[in-house]
Amino acid sequence: MGAQLEALRALQDVELQIVDIRRQLAAKERAVKRQSAKLRSAEEAHTAARDDLKHTQVEMDALDVDVKARNGHIAQLRDNLSTVKTNKEYAAVMAQLNNEKADLNRLEQRAYQLLETVEEKKKVVSEQEQLVKDEAARLENLKVQFSQSQTSFSQHLEQLKSERTTAANSVEPKFRAMFERVSERYEGEVMAEVIRTHPRRDEFMCDGCQMALAMERANALMSRDEIITCDNCGRILYIERHT
Ligand SMILES: [Zn+2]
Repeated sequence: MGAQLEALRALQDVELQIVDIRRQLAAKERAVKRQSAKLRSAEEAHTAARDDLKHTQVEMDALDVDVKARNGHIAQLRDNLSTVKTNKEYAAVMAQLNNEKADLNRLEQRAYQLLETVEEKKKVVSEQEQLVKDEAARLENLKVQFSQSQTSFSQHLEQLKSERTTAANSVEPKFRAMFERVSERYEGEVMAEVIRTHPRRDEFMCDGCQMALAMERANALMSRDEIITCDNCGRILYIERHT
């Protein structure tokens, strides 16, 4: 293998390490973002559950006021019964009293239902509250992990960047530009090995994209220090002597 190809492969070795570190950091950052979104939706659900409970409590309070008023009215009607003078008046008050009692009965049933609903909703609120705490703790944990990785990787990354500069200086400018272009496209996987697909026939393929490679291109690689890119994927090709 020629000197330029060797230099390009050395550059790729460093490049792949840098890409790997960046990928790990990006994955941790994504995990933090995903968990932040989870926490936000848990908080929203908690707020909605609390509002819902408050709404039911307000309805129950209004019902209590109504029940008290009707009880007062019933007591008053009972008083009236003792002071009526005619049967007709008595019947009229009794009719009112029975209506009011029927209404009161309905209201009390509704109040009982609401009481059960409030208990259920309180349970939901406290479950949501716990969920918010759990998601917040998870987020905190992921943030710490991300920040620790940033710290531990930063020194290594600096060292790799300086190694990259050194490696890049051994590559001719035109090939360096080619390297940068392909690297951006394939996240550092710039080089592709040419593989012989048949032990006895001169058939070759690019290991980067698995496409067949013309024999004359493989020959050019084997016989001369040429920089050849794959027609299909554009990666810079190399061939191992022992294969
Ligand atoms: Zn290819």
